[in-house]
Amino acid sequence: MQVTIKTEVTKALLCMACGADRIEPFRTGVRNRPDQKVVECKACGLQFLHPFPSYDLKEYYDSKYRGTHNCEMDTKRTSEDRFNDRHYELQDNLETVLGYVCPESRVLEIGCAAGAMLSMLQPHVKEVVGLDYNSEDAHYAADKLDIATYTTDLWETGIGHNSFDVICAFHVIEHVEDPVRWLYKIRPYLKNDGVIILATPNLDHPYMTLWDIPEFADFWYREPHLYYFNMDTLEKITNAAGYSGEVTTAQIYNIKNLFHWMYAREPQKDAVAAQSRAPVLINRPTSGGIDVLMNHSLLNMDSDYRNLLMKHSRGDILYYVGGRYVRGADFKKQKR
Ligand SMILES: [Zn+2]
Repeated sequence: MQVTIKTEVTKALLCMACGADRIEPFRTGVRNRPDQKVVECKACGLQFLHPFPSYDLKEYYDSKYRGTHNCEMDTKRTSEDRFNDRHYELQDNLETVLGYVCPESRVLEIGCAAGAMLSMLQPHVKEVVGLDYNSEDAHYAADKLDIATYTTDLWETGIGHNSFDVICAFHVIEHVEDPVRWLYKIRPYLKNDGVIILATPNLDHPYMTLWDIPEFADFWYREPHLYYFNMDTLEKITNAAGYSGEVTTAQIYNIKNLFHWMYAREPQKDAVAAQSRAPVLINRPTSGGIDVLMNHSLLNMDSDYRNLLMKHSRGDILYYVGGRYVRGADFKKQKR
């Protein structure tokens, strides 16, 4: 029976990242969908769902996605709730963007949600523009934050080519049906010396490659994520779309979240707390000062954990920073 499935898959597919035809089943089952198949390119390691779920992406992200995928699991949250989620990753995204802007910069965020990152960036740049399929979020950003927003794809906005110094898209590319084509169509909207910044979950996630927690894999793979990248495959698809740049990893979730997964074998309910810099600190003043010493020690432990993972490219998130590829010139945009 397994041979039959393999044959079907192999005949139908080429790898988007490397063009190889060695696509084989990798696992069956993603979050809330035990029957969904994930396949892998044996040549380069790119993974993707097969077949893709059969819904219209724009309609799905406008109406259904936010009902089930939130910082707090299984809750219905409003645009204002999402705007107020000041999680650690948001800060990390902001700091990454701030590394590449100046007061004259025009910045576009694709998948801007309720505009939290753009509103924090706004005082530092000339103009921010947001795109999000979710009309409630886009209207929130436009009405409450006075950010120019669109609910269409970039090429349907009427915005001209060579418009942006920075285009960023955090946790978008894994949702896109044809990421190479999508990146290629975005490319002309960057200025010649513009910077593209992407973030996406790391397939070489530490809980799966170092600690081997199968329950985490069952949770981590999910229907809206059509593609699963590691450092190599993210670089391959960006190169294929006409960019050159660099992939690094970041560790967003704290060490307490690792321990929670190891012992509870399930996610924490609150993703904001799971990313906090201070996961297990003592909150009461204690005689003898052990609170201060212990908190210092715990923060150091969390910091060491994150730094070691990042140093060895095992952080839970991939960041890509690149520019339009020009023959003979490697991307070497320096952080400001
Ligand atoms: Zn491949």
